[in-house]
Amino acid sequence: MAAITEADFRAEARAFLDANADKRVERKFQWGEGSDRVGLLEEKTAEEEAVEVAAAKAWKAKEFDAGFGWISGPAEYGGRELTREYERAYREETAGYDIPSQGAFVIGLGMVAPTILAHAIPEVKEKYLRALYRGDLIGCQLFSEPIAGSDLAGIQTKAVRDGDEWVVTGQKVWTSGAQFSDIGEVITRTSPDKPKHKGLTMFVVDMKALGVEVRPLRQMTGGASFNEVFFEEVRIPDSHRLGDVDEGWGVALTTLMNERAAIGGGGSSGVGDYNFTRFKEMARHFGVDDDPNIRQRIASIYINGHVARATAVRSMAKVRAGQAPGPEMSIGKLSMTKNMQLMAQTAAEILGPRLAADTGEWGTFAWAEMVLGVPGGRVAGGTDEIMRNIIGERVLGLPKEPRVEQ
Ligand SMILES: Cc1cc2nc3c(=O)[nH]c(=O)nc-3n(C[C@H](O)[C@H](O)[C@H](O)COP(=O)(O)OP(=O)(O)OC[C@H]3O[C@@H](n4cnc5c(N)ncnc54)[C@H](O)[C@@H]3O)c2cc1C
Repeated sequence: MAAITEADFRAEARAFLDANADKRVERKFQWGEGSDRVGLLEEKTAEEEAVEVAAAKAWKAKEFDAGFGWISGPAEYGGRELTREYERAYREETAGYDIPSQGAFVIGLGMVAPTILAHAIPEVKEKYLRALYRGDLIGCQLFSEPIAGSDLAGIQTKAVRDGDEWVVTGQKVWTSGAQFSDIGEVITRTSPDKPKHKGLTMFVVDMKALGVEVRPLRQMTGGASFNEVFFEEVRIPDSHRLGDVDEGWGVALTTLMNERAAIGGGGSSGVGDYNFTRFKEMARHFGVDDDPNIRQRIASIYINGHVARATAVRSMAKVRAGQAPGPEMSIGKLSMTKNMQLMAQTAAEILGPRLAADTGEWGTFAWAEMVLGVPGGRVAGGTDEIMRNIIGERVLGLPKEPRVEQ
């Protein structure tokens, strides 16, 4: 593909966006006006979700067909082979427009697709990568099990070879988005006799295959964005194996590093400037804006937010320079969730009982969704404690914590 300067690329992106999306109108926060939904870990009804997924897919297809779907990807799978700087430039351009939420693709594109690109055979890359980046297919991550989360290598879902196929039986849990996913990345145990990290194998599984059953799990926030997934003798072709037999642990690490990059490295601080204004206005509205403790907390939220964002930007600079996401991604994830926790605590302190009972008062009970969602954020993609272990051992080089098994 011919080289294009960043200025020309940005002009092309703006022309595409002008033709297909509305310019974002700057919202000025006014207490009591507009939606009071807090935009963190929102929960949707099944109907709202179906509308959102359809809109997300329609946008993704348009974007892909215009050459903005996979800016840094290889041309043979539909990518444009530009550097990650161009991806950043495109993200900056889109920030000025109202485009449908792309949340449905976070796992498929943030984790599953990079793992397929790194570990699948060419036919499987050909089959799935273009379709994932065009939004024709959505992917999910089938790692956690009822007895294996932080200790992922303890999974028990087994895969047994039968000629050119593998027969998979077991149960996964907390699978985000499985209800609307077409494919999944599943980690299985293929050699139960080997040490636990050594007997694992990863596959791409068709979520519509015979024997796959998805059951929604209701969360305390009211929604059901994740699921239990049962595998009953599900047949997966050997061609859909990611990496070598019994080498799935290394493949899983590719996904986990990309997961932390997707969650904590996106430049997110856990609090946008808009939400920061909400805090200030909430404190003013309830007459606590001169309380030194509240002022201190709100200032901390602002500062932490900017530090988290700077940390994420620094880690992502490495990725843009062509390096794999490293253990420092854990710092971005931990800073973000710590700040979300501080936000939840501060909202709870200001709102008190208004957070527990819906009186219809604007800007009060709406925060319950965010406050109840934060613990999930602190667990998803590796818990705060696991992030601290990774930072201690792999970033700071501190002695390793004692392991139960060798
Ligand atoms: C919103 C959300 C979305 C998710 N989406 C997915 C998904 O799409 N796919 C998927 O596969 N999974 C998903 N998960 C599951 C998630 O990966 C696991 O919940 C997580 O890895 C923790 O595992 P666990 O729940 O089994 O807790 P456990 O591992 O049992 O941990 C329990 C507690 O013990 C602590 N702990 C455990 N080990 C250590 C240690 N070595 N040192 C210090 N403390 C420790 C933990 O920090 C935690 O506080 C999701 C979870 C959430 C909340």
